[in-house]
Amino acid sequence: MLSWLLASWALLWSSVSVAQNIENVRVWPSAEKTRVVFDLSAEPTYTYFTLFDNQPYRIVIDFQNTANQVDLSAIEIASDVVTVIRTSGSPRAGTSRIVLEINSATAPEIFPLGPSGNSGHRLVVDIAGATDLSQVVAESQSSTPATSAPRVPRTLDAIPIRPLVVAIDAGHGGRDPGSIGPAGNFEKVITLAVARKLAARVNADPGMRAVLTRTGDQSLSLAQRTSVVRRERADFFVSIHADAFTTPQPRGASVWILSKRRSDTELGRALENKERLSEELIDVVPSLENSEDDPYLNRTFLDMLRDNSMADGHEAATIILDQLGRVTNLHRDKPEGASFGVLSALRTPSVLVELGFISNPQKERLLINNSHQDRLANALYLGIREFFLRNPVAGTSLAELEIQTHVVARGESLSVIAARYGVRVADIKAQNNLRSNTIRVGQQLEIPLGR
Ligand SMILES: [Zn+2]
Repeated sequence: MLSWLLASWALLWSSVSVAQNIENVRVWPSAEKTRVVFDLSAEPTYTYFTLFDNQPYRIVIDFQNTANQVDLSAIEIASDVVTVIRTSGSPRAGTSRIVLEINSATAPEIFPLGPSGNSGHRLVVDIAGATDLSQVVAESQSSTPATSAPRVPRTLDAIPIRPLVVAIDAGHGGRDPGSIGPAGNFEKVITLAVARKLAARVNADPGMRAVLTRTGDQSLSLAQRTSVVRRERADFFVSIHADAFTTPQPRGASVWILSKRRSDTELGRALENKERLSEELIDVVPSLENSEDDPYLNRTFLDMLRDNSMADGHEAATIILDQLGRVTNLHRDKPEGASFGVLSALRTPSVLVELGFISNPQKERLLINNSHQDRLANALYLGIREFFLRNPVAGTSLAELEIQTHVVARGESLSVIAARYGVRVADIKAQNNLRSNTIRVGQQLEIPLGR
C-alpha cells in the first residue's frame, strides 16, 4: 500500500514543472535504516531507478529542472549503509542526476514531503540497514565545510549529546492509597519512597535524567501520568507498585509490560486522535512533522515505533527482573503482559514493577524498610542502565561512554563492581587482563561500558 501511494505521489508531482534547486543534503543513519533528505527550493520533480546487477549497488535519482547547489563531496556520511553520494552525467539538459552508492541491494523507499515547520520541500530516501550508532554521533559532529556555490549549504545536522530521560511513576497517591498492608502501611507511600530513591540514583548518573510523575502525595489521573512521557520526550517509563493479592501468600516482585492486544487498541486510539498522533510522531524523524496528513504513513510509522518499543520493553523488563532477583525474591521470573493504561506510551519502552506484595506481612515490613527500598531502587537503576548500555540511544551521553575508570574501594569484589556498572565480570577481567578474581583496594580498573 505504501509503495503504491508513494508511486502515485511521484506521478502527481512529475507533472509540476518548476525550476528548483537542491539546497542541502542531510544524512540520518540509525540502527534500522539510513535516511537521506534532499532539501529543495520547490516541489521535487524526479524519477529514480536502481542498479543492483553489480557493485557498488546504486540508487540513481534524476531531479528534473533542477540545479544542484550542494558540494556533495563535502558531506561526511556517517552511515554504514550509504557509502557515497555523488553527481553523475546529466541524462538531459536541466536534470541533475544524483547517485547514492549503497552496500546492499535493498530497494529504497523514496517519497517527497511538503513544507512543514522549519523545513521546506524535501525528497526523502530511506534505505534499510543498520549503522553502528556509537560512531555516528562522533562523526556527525564535524560540520560540513561551506562551498563556493551561490547558496551556502547548511551544515550537516549535528546530533546533540543529551542525557537519557527516565520517567518514574510512583503508583497511586493523594485520595488513592493503593493497597494497604496488614500493619496499615499504604502502597502510595512505599511507591513514592522507592520512586524518589530511584530518581536520586538516576540523577547521580551523568548519563541520565529522571522525571517523576509525582513528588508528593498527589492524586494523578492516568493521562497526567502518561503525558510526562511525551512532554519530557522520555526514553524510558517505569511505574512502581507494591500491590496486594487476595490471599497473603504471594510475596515476590514481578515486572509487567503492555500486552499486544492492549497495544493494538492504543495504536488505534492514537491514530484517531490528531493531537496525540502529532505528539507521538513529532520527532520520529525531524523531517516528518507533516506526516500526520497521511493515514497510511502514520500507521506505518506508528506501527514500527510501537513494535520497537514493545520489544525494547520486553528486553528491559527481563534485565530489570534479573537485577531485582538479586535483592528480593521474584513472584514470576519472566515479564508478563497486561492491559495497564499506564503503559500505553507507544514509542517509549514502558514497564510496571511490582516490588512485592504489601499484603504479605513479612514483605510489608521489608517494603517500608529504608535499606530494602535502597536495594530495590538500585536494582531498578542498574536494570535500566544495563538496558541502555545494551541498546545505546544515538545522541545520548550514555551511548558515548566507552570506558570508565573505577578505583576499588574496601569490601568491593569484581562481581559487586560488575553489578554496579551493569557489565559482566568476564568483560572487566578481559579489559584489565586479570587472570583471577583477586583485586585490591585502591586498584584502578577500566570498566568497559556498552557492548
Ligand atoms: Zn498499585
